[in-house]
Amino acid sequence: MRATGGELGWLTWPLDQGDKPGWEVIQRTLNGSQFYTFSVCNVGEREQDNWLRTTFIQRRPSASRVFVELQFIVRDCNSFDGASLTCKETFNLFTSESDADVGTTFRKGQFKKVATIAPDEITSKNELRINTETKVVENLSRKGFYLAFQDIGACIALLSVRVYYKTCPATVKSLASFPETVAGGENQALREVSGVCVENAISEELPRIYCTVDGEWVVPVGQCQCKPGYEEVEDECQECKAGSFKAEASGDKCTPCPANTQELDSGAVVCPCMDGFYRAPNDPPTGPCSGLPSAPRDLVATTSAGKLLLTWSPPEDTGGRTDITYSIECQRCEGMVCQSCGEKIRYEPAGVGLTDTKVSVSELDAHLNYTFTVEAHSGVTVLTSQAVPPANRPPSTSDDNLDVTTYTVLILEKNSVQIKDLVPGTAYLFRVQALSSDGSPGGSSMEEQFETSGTEGNQHGQRSTQMIQRQKSIYGFCIFLFRKRNSHTRQGPEDTYFSSSEQLKPLKTYVDPHTYEDPNTAVLKFATEIHPSHITKQKVIGAGEFGEVYRGILKVPGRKEVAVAIKTLKPGYTEKQRQDFLSEASIMGQFSHQNIIRLEGVVTKFKHAMIVTEYMENGALDRYLRDHDGEFASFQLVGMLRGIAAGMKYLSDMSYVHRDLAARNILVNNTLECKVSDFGLSRVLEDDPEGTYTTSGGKIPIRWTAPEAIAYRKFTSASDVWSFGIVMWEVMAFGERPYWDMSNHEVMKAINEAFRLPAPMDCPSAVYQLMLQCWLQDRSKRPRFGDIVSLLDKLLRSPDSLKTIADFDPRISIRLPSTSGSDGSPFRSVSEWLESIKMSQYSENFACAGVVTMDQVLQMKNEDIKNIGVRLPGHLKRIAYSILGLKDQTSTLSVFAV
Ligand code: AMP
Repeated sequence: MRATGGELGWLTWPLDQGDKPGWEVIQRTLNGSQFYTFSVCNVGEREQDNWLRTTFIQRRPSASRVFVELQFIVRDCNSFDGASLTCKETFNLFTSESDADVGTTFRKGQFKKVATIAPDEITSKNELRINTETKVVENLSRKGFYLAFQDIGACIALLSVRVYYKTCPATVKSLASFPETVAGGENQALREVSGVCVENAISEELPRIYCTVDGEWVVPVGQCQCKPGYEEVEDECQECKAGSFKAEASGDKCTPCPANTQELDSGAVVCPCMDGFYRAPNDPPTGPCSGLPSAPRDLVATTSAGKLLLTWSPPEDTGGRTDITYSIECQRCEGMVCQSCGEKIRYEPAGVGLTDTKVSVSELDAHLNYTFTVEAHSGVTVLTSQAVPPANRPPSTSDDNLDVTTYTVLILEKNSVQIKDLVPGTAYLFRVQALSSDGSPGGSSMEEQFETSGTEGNQHGQRSTQMIQRQKSIYGFCIFLFRKRNSHTRQGPEDTYFSSSEQLKPLKTYVDPHTYEDPNTAVLKFATEIHPSHITKQKVIGAGEFGEVYRGILKVPGRKEVAVAIKTLKPGYTEKQRQDFLSEASIMGQFSHQNIIRLEGVVTKFKHAMIVTEYMENGALDRYLRDHDGEFASFQLVGMLRGIAAGMKYLSDMSYVHRDLAARNILVNNTLECKVSDFGLSRVLEDDPEGTYTTSGGKIPIRWTAPEAIAYRKFTSASDVWSFGIVMWEVMAFGERPYWDMSNHEVMKAINEAFRLPAPMDCPSAVYQLMLQCWLQDRSKRPRFGDIVSLLDKLLRSPDSLKTIADFDPRISIRLPSTSGSDGSPFRSVSEWLESIKMSQYSENFACAGVVTMDQVLQMKNEDIKNIGVRLPGHLKRIAYSILGLKDQTSTLSVFAV
């Protein structure tokens, strides 16, 4: 108004107003500053009908809900002397939709009333009171609209009109970016918005989120994860730094290249082995590489009972592997002609795949020279011989470089021998041993070393000759043993075996930390060590079995600080307790999923062990729902269940069975995302107050556990599905205790007799049907978590599917006490009654409304309950049903049937 000098171009009607004009622009001074108003003040006149219409307001196509904020002043009718009967203190807001600007055409009939505008404070003669009032115009659908203000005889000044709509701002959540979205209206309270993964992130399912009418984002679904070779840094995916790698698309950080691998430039998906190091086919492509084993040592041949016994020591260097085996190679030579011994001789236990460092050889011919070679193998030597095309290795050098010990045995009947065909420039060890006629060994000489000369001439096929003479022939036979010194040259192909990570992507399964002999190794493997100085504890938020749980801050240098939960181990623990405590981290650290609590790391190297996880602002789900009873629509509850199911699908795909799935073990963050928590070995159930000892000494939370798991400890993903059904019920019933106050024994009996929990109040039929499926006696008939996620997704995509509500009997489903308090006597007071139905928060509303006796309560109608201030539909129903129950003496039902 100020900018246009009071010429906004708004239309006033009627056009011809004679000497009593309708709305007009009036310039005023308030606190020294000038401002304009649209005013009208015909309080003394009859039948006033003055209209003020805005110019055409174009509508953003998706904005169906528009807010109109008015600032205005209304004069007190009493302040006019001889207050006129016709004086009013309200005016009306109208709107009319149109696809085009209709200019100065004005037809009252086209306007719909939005609201009567009444002041909170009226202005008397000497005091100016400005009112602010916001009204909502719903369901707009045409290109634009007009607003109009109708005066029917009040004294009003309109100071400002602000027209706006709400949006959810463009945002990046879980590495997915979502566009600015106009909030929906009455007909679409939650708008589903699809997002796109940020650069270098990918996701299996389309990331989605919902925009509420208030312009807030809630319930993100689907997680984008940084591609292999990238890690998440402040809502972006950045390349792994040089010397680190990431093999899979996941929420994990890049990890330093493991031992014996090459550090590539940034963005590595895998760290290839360094020259001379390999990964066996069964080694994970993300693990360290190992070298070839060196040659077996101290090969000794002895004879006994006509057999030759070869023994040796394991290689000095196993290349870091434990899967060492040995094979024996035999050559027999007659003069210059050597050939493989073939099947003529026998090895005991075998000639290949030996794990022991000995073998006995029999059926040797007495007059032949035998050369035995023992080779050490490991997972990687198998690989090298497979992976290397023979052409890569020049045949002339292969034997020289092969790291083997060759043991040649000569059985002689004389005391001297000439040894030919030796390799030039090579050291040989010789030993002479006497044999008795029955073949049993006698004393032997010391080992002696000789070296062949490495002259030029020798390289042309000429081999050096060694004459050895021994005077030790005793009984005619003598074994003459000699072997080539180990050469430690290692030669391997350039290892390109694992160049493609997809090809070898391992099926990820959960590894029970118990399989590690030392549980500390498991923690180190699956969890990042955090320095305690990077952790700040702020406040105790809970009590775990092992010590306090704190809220705090994790600030690792070079990383954004994050809110975390810190689980501590109280002083005085035993080593076993410390290991049990840390086992939760070993398990959690193996998971990476949007709906599983994320492990930030552990402190194990300091006195006070800690487990650091992401912080979940809203704490445990059961508590949270109880505190917000009735405040969420089915849609939102189903969204939460969908998250839990997705987390459980991930766990079951990894073959992890949770065993203690319950709402108390689900945590909720500030966007209402639900994440599965509470992992651990012995602690899973020890820690749970719901756990009941069974006769076999285990602990089981009866009301959450499938019958076969109770009966014979058959814990499977199918028994987790049963528990998920109970969680569904807990969620739809806003944290109500499953089976209420029934005892564990009564619960088991009811389940055995095919009774199941009834539908909670207002539970969509499709959701209740799914619960019943989860509770099928035959576990093979229960849906799998994959099926559950798909079904919940389907329901969320078509909100109409949630409109059919399951049959519900308030007497059994909310278990309202009907005629009496818990001790069997009638309710003595309104507050006692309210407490029994968990509605104590309304005690004051009843008292203020003067409802102080139960007789008065019984007279109340639904309208009355609403009028005293009970607004949430769930609460209204609960109170109304209870009153109905109080009237109906016969309504106590204690069992419920499917
Ligand atoms: P727990 O030992 O895991 O059952 O934790 C005990 C309590 O600490 C839980 O019931 C929660 O109230 C709280 N708590 C545990 N972890 C977290 C977390 N990550 N964020 C927020 N609260 C947590």
